[in-house]
Amino acid sequence: MNKMVSSKIASVRRGEERPYMRKPDWIRVKAPMSKAYGETRKLMRDKGLVTVCEEAACPNIGECWEQKHATIMILGEICTRACAFCNIKTGMPNRVDPNEPAHSAEVVATLGLEHVVITSVDRDDLDDGGADQFVKVIKAIRETSPNTTIEILTPDFRDKPGALETVVEAQPDVFNHNLETVPRLYPTIRPGARYYHSLKLLDRVKQLDPSMFTKSGIMVGLGEDKQEVYQVMDDMRYANIDFLTIGQYLQPTPKHAPLQRYVTPDEFATYDKLAKTKGFLLVSATPLTRSSYHAGDDFRRLRAAREAQLSKEAASAS
Ligand code: SF4
Repeated sequence: MNKMVSSKIASVRRGEERPYMRKPDWIRVKAPMSKAYGETRKLMRDKGLVTVCEEAACPNIGECWEQKHATIMILGEICTRACAFCNIKTGMPNRVDPNEPAHSAEVVATLGLEHVVITSVDRDDLDDGGADQFVKVIKAIRETSPNTTIEILTPDFRDKPGALETVVEAQPDVFNHNLETVPRLYPTIRPGARYYHSLKLLDRVKQLDPSMFTKSGIMVGLGEDKQEVYQVMDDMRYANIDFLTIGQYLQPTPKHAPLQRYVTPDEFATYDKLAKTKGFLLVSATPLTRSSYHAGDDFRRLRAAREAQLSKEAASAS
């Protein structure tokens, strides 16, 4: 064995470096090349909008953009937090763009979206954490595309009194906030956030408006164990969360939190089955699941699941 190889193995053993993990077949996706992909990209550029699809280096971008499904990221492309899993830049955030609500609404109308997902970076620098901009974007989309359903994926609005209430009052159809990982891993993976704060935020949404769908997700492959994932499911059900998403963590660059392992499709199927028994209205647990992946189809399924549940309850009460 040459010197270079043995020193590499030694550093892996000391935990300084992880061995390269080849992507399994079930993670590989086609490179984005279609005409529709190019058109979606051009539209976003023309309107000066940012997407989480690009900023987070999402593996599904080829498939989603080909169908003209893009997740708009408002409030700039620079985040005030530095989560170890996330590819979005950290630093001095951009000024809030007053044209962003109108441009977002124009993009939704041009793409003819039935369902849109709006997310944002964390804006700890703003007094309201960016809540007002969420409201303006929701209102602008409602005005130009009244039949489009709106899903928001928000930051945690930590230490921003009244921010959550302001956003809920704007009546998005789905309120999503991701727990991202199990509580034990928060100090290393999501150091600026608090697990129970995020859970309480989702619980509070249901208290403010029991008819609003709530959604949350975690990534797996970060070093969590199965019992911890089951506990997160129970915590989410306790907070009345309707829709759970579980997807494989992919390390964006060598500087990000190391990938501990690829979770197999069979293990995802077990998570999916178990979560359903815990009473979620909808579960999406696959290696490529992301918060906004197939969000429009999932919204229709979510609504149908609630209607079925209500009819069942009505039938058993009569
Ligand atoms: S899964 Fe979501 S973030 Fe990824 S490309 Fe699709 S819409 Fe964008």
